Amino acid sequence: MTGEGCQHSSALVLFSGGQDSTVCLAWALSRYERIETVGFNYGQRHDIELKCREMILQKLPVNFAQWRDRLGPDHMINIPALSKISESALTRDVEIKMLKNGLPNTFVPGRNLLFFTYAAALGYRRDHHSLVGGMCETDYSGYPDCRDETLQTLRKALCLGTETDFSIETPLMHLTKAQTWALAEELGGTPLVDLIVQDTHSCYLGERGERQNWGYGCGTCPACELRARGFEDWRGSMADATTA
Ligand code: ZN
Repeated sequence: MTGEGCQHSSALVLFSGGQDSTVCLAWALSRYERIETVGFNYGQRHDIELKCREMILQKLPVNFAQWRDRLGPDHMINIPALSKISESALTRDVEIKMLKNGLPNTFVPGRNLLFFTYAAALGYRRDHHSLVGGMCETDYSGYPDCRDETLQTLRKALCLGTETDFSIETPLMHLTKAQTWALAEELGGTPLVDLIVQDTHSCYLGERGERQNWGYGCGTCPACELRARGFEDWRGSMADATTA
């Protein structure tokens, strides 16, 4: 679902401080009158992402006057059990590699199912029935909990289980990473692209060393490769459009 015909005036955005969830937050801010954000501390190997999300939440209302009055409280939920019961390269200090089942060991089983279930419980109390997340099944690592079918089936369970008309909005679901950069520019122009380059974090290894033109990161982990390639493709397509 991409929000067409959505009847809710407010939304709760699953916001991690990464590139995708930051674009999602901008997308929601441009559509809904009232936005709140929720983040999860699940024992990530690196807390740099959580520091980035605080910085972005501070900068957004300062740098984007059009969204200032829409951005409401942020909520952090601790789920320490997730890293204890899962063996993932995102929560343990192990090398990133492919598993026998074809999934990378960065997969945290059940993560997005839990996140949306917690978000629904919070949305129920805060009266937000649109839940927005940056999951994407185009350029992704094959995580089965990022699929549209998974999330819309979960939505049905959440609606039945709470007797509430929740929607799950995933505006990036069918976009490539290059299209996500383009969407960021469409929503917030160069200032938003600059904010994403400077302050969002995607690198699996938690590196913030030298700034590249696409942002900070090791440059070689799957998340950095995807981000860098998407950025170059987007810049390339803009150059093509200019010369055409
Ligand atoms: Zn990296």
